[in-house]
Amino acid sequence: MKYSISIKVFSISIVFLLLIALSFVFFNFHTTSKKNIEELLESHIQTSVLNLKHYLDKNVKVDNVSDIVSHLDTITSVNSIIANIKIDNEKHETLYLHSRTLKNFDKKECVPIFEISQTNVFSNSCYTIHTKLYRGLTPFYYTTYIIISQKYLNSLLHNQTQKLFLEYFATIFILLFLTWLTFSQIIKNPLERLRQFAYYESKIPHRFFIQEIESIRHSLEMTFKRLHQEQKELYNLSTRDQLSGLYNKRTLIEKIEWLCIEKKRTKENFAIIFLDLDNFKTVNDSMGHNIGDKVLQETSQLLVNAISKNDIAARIGGDEFVIVLPNIESDMQIIEILDKVKKNIQYPLILQSVKYTITASVGVALFPKDGKDVNELLKNADIAMYKSKELGKNNYHFFTESLNNEIQYKVTMQNMLIEALEHNFFELHYQPKIDIRTQKVYACEALIRLRHPKKGLISPHEFISIAEENNFIIELGYWIIKESVRQVKSWIHTPFEHIKISINLSVKQFEDPNLIKKLSEFTQDINRASLDIELTESVFVNSIEHQQEIIHQIKTLGFSLSLDDFGTGYSSLSYLKNIPFNTIKIDKAFIDDLGTSNGQAFVKMIVKIAKILNLEVVAEGVETIEQEEYLTSIECDTYQGYLCSKPLPSKEFEVLLQTQEYL
Ligand code: C2E
Ligand code: CA
Ligand code: CA
Repeated sequence: MKYSISIKVFSISIVFLLLIALSFVFFNFHTTSKKNIEELLESHIQTSVLNLKHYLDKNVKVDNVSDIVSHLDTITSVNSIIANIKIDNEKHETLYLHSRTLKNFDKKECVPIFEISQTNVFSNSCYTIHTKLYRGLTPFYYTTYIIISQKYLNSLLHNQTQKLFLEYFATIFILLFLTWLTFSQIIKNPLERLRQFAYYESKIPHRFFIQEIESIRHSLEMTFKRLHQEQKELYNLSTRDQLSGLYNKRTLIEKIEWLCIEKKRTKENFAIIFLDLDNFKTVNDSMGHNIGDKVLQETSQLLVNAISKNDIAARIGGDEFVIVLPNIESDMQIIEILDKVKKNIQYPLILQSVKYTITASVGVALFPKDGKDVNELLKNADIAMYKSKELGKNNYHFFTESLNNEIQYKVTMQNMLIEALEHNFFELHYQPKIDIRTQKVYACEALIRLRHPKKGLISPHEFISIAEENNFIIELGYWIIKESVRQVKSWIHTPFEHIKISINLSVKQFEDPNLIKKLSEFTQDINRASLDIELTESVFVNSIEHQQEIIHQIKTLGFSLSLDDFGTGYSSLSYLKNIPFNTIKIDKAFIDDLGTSNGQAFVKMIVKIAKILNLEVVAEGVETIEQEEYLTSIECDTYQGYLCSKPLPSKEFEVLLQTQEYL
C-alpha cells in the first residue's frame, strides 16, 4: 500500500462511520415510534369518542342534558386528551359546554369522527358526533364537539423525542468511550511499547491481550535473544583464545593500552605478570599435541582460579600467559597472587592416567616504573621472566633490580617472622621510665626484638612495617600482650610489683575487630592498671568517632593510655582534647632539639600544656645529662632514654631495678 494512516485517524474514521450508521438507525427508530404513538393516540381518541357517543345515545334526553352533566364533566377531567366537550341542538343552542373558555373554536374545522383515520391527530383538534333522537315520532338532532388537547398530545410527542435524543447521545458517548478504550489500551499502547522495544531494545514488554500483537512481541524477544547470543559468540571469537578461553594477545594489548591511559590519569599502578610454563615443551613432544592442549586448558583454568574477577588473564603464545592486575595496593598483594598462581598451577594433573606437575617461570613489570606503554611493559615483564628462568625456573622475578631485592627481602622477612613466632624467637625488652625527681624507675616500655639463631638480634625497625603490611602484626600483637601479661604476673609479690608495663599498639592492631575481646581475655587475671597502652596519632587518621568508642572500651577495662611520639603528627593538640589520655610522650625529635632555644621553648610549652590538662609527661630518647637537667628545670616529671638504659631483656632489667633499690 502506498499510504499509511495512524491508528488514531483510522479509529476516528471507524467511529465516524459508526456514528452515521447509528444516526440512521435512530432516525428510523424515531420515525417509526412517532408513527406508533400517532396510531396509539388515534385509537385512543377513537375509543374515547365512540364510548362517549354510545353513552350519549343512551342517556341524552331531548334537549335536556342536565342528568348527564356530571358524568360528562368527569369524562373531560379524567381524560387528558379531551380538552373540552360541547353539545349543541339543531338550533345551534349549546346544551353543554364543559369549560367556558373555548378559544379558536371553529366548527368548520371539526371532522366527523368516522374520518379520524384519514386525519393527522396532531394537526386536527376537533371531532364531531351527530346524534339523532326521537321525541315521540319527531326526530331530534344534536351535535357533540369533542375538542382534543393539542397541548397534551404535543407534550406526549415531545417527551418521547426528548427521551430518544437522550438515549441517542448516551449511546454515542458510550460508543466513543469504548472505542477509545479499546484502541488505546488494547491496540495503540501495546503497539507503542512494541515500537519502543524494537527501536531502543528497552525492557521486554509483558504479554499482550491481542494475539497478533503478542505473537509479534514474542518474535521480537526471540530475535533479540538470538542477536545477543550471536553478538556474544562473535565477540568471544574475536577476543578470546579458542583453546584456553582466555583473552587473546590482541585483546590483551587493547586492555593494557586502555589501562595505561586510565592509570596515568589516576596516577595509580598496575602489574603485568608474564608466565612461561617450564616443562611444557617436553610434555608436548613426548605425549603429543592432544595432551599438550589438555594441559594448556587445565592450566588456564587453574590460572583463572588464582586471580580475582577484575584481573585479566590472557594466553599470548604456545605456553605463554599474561596476567594483568589492574588494582594493586602493595607489593605484598602481588606476592600473594604470585604465590597463589604458583600453588594453583602446580596442582598435579592426571591425563590418561599419567600425572603431570606444571611449573612456570614468572616475570613481573609495574606501570609506570617499568614501562609507560604496552610494548615496554610486556618486553620488560618478559625480560624479568627470563631472569627467573636463568635462576632455576619455578620462580618469579621483578623487572627492577632494587624492587626485586626489596620484594625478595620482604618475602624472606615474612617467612622469618612466621618461623619466629612458631619457634618462639621473639622476646620483649623493657626500657625503664624514670621519675626525674626521685631518679627511680617507676615503669617501663615493652619493645619487641627478634632473636634469630643465625642472624642475631633483629630490631623492630626491620620488621614492624612488614608485619603491618601483611597483617602479621595482629598475631604478633597477641603474643606481645600475652608476654607482657606473663611478665606482670611474674613480678607479683616481688619488689617490682609496682612497675607498670607499656605496650605499643599499631594502627592495624587497633583496627582488629577482636582487639577488645582478646585484650580482656588475656588480661582477665591481672590488675589491668599495671598495663599501659601506647598509641600514636596515626590510629585516629581515618575515623576518630569509631576509634573513640574503642578507646572508651580500653579505658573501661582498666588500662591507662599514652599518646606516643607526641608532636610529630599534624594535630596532636586536638587529640588531647577529644581522647582521655593519661600520659603524653614527647617525641625524641624534640628532645634532640633541646640544644637550641627554639627546641627548649617547644618542650617547655608541651610540658606546660600537659600540666594544665593534668596529664603525665614522658620525655623520650633522653641521652645526656644536659637534657635531663633542662627537663628538671621545667618540671617535666619523667623520662625514658639511653641516659638511664637501653631496652633490656627482662633479666637484665630486673638487675637494673635491683641495683637502683640499693642506690
Ligand atoms: P617507639 O614506640 O617510639 O619506641 C621508642 C623507640 O626509641 C625504641 O626503639 C627505643 O629503643 C628507642 N629509644 C629509646 N630511648 C632512646 C634513646 O635515648 N636514643 C635512641 N636513639 N633511641 C631510643 P625500638 O625498640 O627500636 O622500636 C622502634 C619502634 O618500633 C617503636 O617506636 C615502635 O613504634 C615499634 N615497636 C617496638 N616494639 C613494638 C611492639 O611491641 N609493638 C608494636 N606495635 N610496635 C613496636
Ligand atoms: Ca612507644
Ligand atoms: Ca615513641
